[in-house]
Amino acid sequence: MENARRGLMLILSSPSGAGKTTLTRMLLQRPELDLKLSISVTTRKRRSSEADGIHYHFIDADEFRRLRDSDDLLEHAEVHGNFYGTPRKWVEERLSQGRDVLFDIDYQGARQVREKAPRDVVTIFILPPSMRELRARLERRAEDSAETIEKRLDAARHEISRWTDYDYVLVNDDIQQTFDDLAAIVRAERLRRPRIAAGMGDFVAALLAEPA
Ligand code: 5GP
Repeated sequence: MENARRGLMLILSSPSGAGKTTLTRMLLQRPELDLKLSISVTTRKRRSSEADGIHYHFIDADEFRRLRDSDDLLEHAEVHGNFYGTPRKWVEERLSQGRDVLFDIDYQGARQVREKAPRDVVTIFILPPSMRELRARLERRAEDSAETIEKRLDAARHEISRWTDYDYVLVNDDIQQTFDDLAAIVRAERLRRPRIAAGMGDFVAALLAEPA
């Protein structure tokens, strides 16, 4: 019955430094959640901690334009002066198997995916507990230049103002608590009737036909 359910697109957005990468990793590490991350393409330069094909597919602007113009991207956006996009084929294959996909994309991407598949999308926004804490997390990461950090803090204010576009909003004060809330959202969303109706119909029909 499980596989009769349509695959769900779980979109996680937040300003950089709010803990989304850690939370994504925690979600992917739980085999019982059976989640896979959509790996985006980006024209951004690779950070030293990142690997091609794992964190992103790092591509140049020509390749990005080619993918976008041939409709190979489910959504795409410019973020902090770089281009990002979600390869369509992998996502569609996984969803068609009734399995769920996690997306780490921004509000522009969330809006595009929701417009294309409104019934199969769940959007979650992660807020930092304070702007001071957000700055501290960006500085601790020490992967970006001071100028980039200032740019990201400005962008964070803009991104945070989009919080009302989302289905769920979590304040990431305590990573374990936020993770527990995320896992609860995933479990509950999987049980929503419109998602399981196809598989449940036969079961309920048999249940009603059974003598008590
Ligand atoms: P970063 O450069 O720090 O990895 O990511 C910057 C922002 O781009 C993050 O908010 C991330 O969620 C967003 N992002 C990453 N991949 C995609 C994508 O494929 N599409 C969209 N719309 N945003 C993305």
